[in-house]
Amino acid sequence: MNRQCEHCGTALTGRSDKRFCSVKCKNDFNASRRRETRFVTREVDRILHRNREILQTIMGEKRNKMTIARLELAKMGFNFDYITGIYENRQGKVYHNVYDFAWMAFSTQEILIVRKKKK
Ligand SMILES: [Zn+2]
Repeated sequence: MNRQCEHCGTALTGRSDKRFCSVKCKNDFNASRRRETRFVTREVDRILHRNREILQTIMGEKRNKMTIARLELAKMGFNFDYITGIYENRQGKVYHNVYDFAWMAFSTQEILIVRKKKK
């Protein structure tokens, strides 16, 4: 079987679990993979971080729960399509996590925001 370095394509010899011809190729491969990840995830990260900052601004330091008009949130630049998780409580209400906050469609026009309890 012809095995090749995953970075430069040079034919590999030796151990069958070897993936690269040299330490340099291994490092270059990993560096380019990290660059690609940074590039691909940047936009989603930016939106999620902005969503969290908006919730933090609205909630301040002390508040644990409040409702706000969906329109108001949207005006601030909140993007409802980006969340870090989702869960349904026993009453069937669906909460959308944004890191340490969560929001729920309280009515068609109102959003309930809660601060998640620290574990
Ligand atoms: Zn190589």
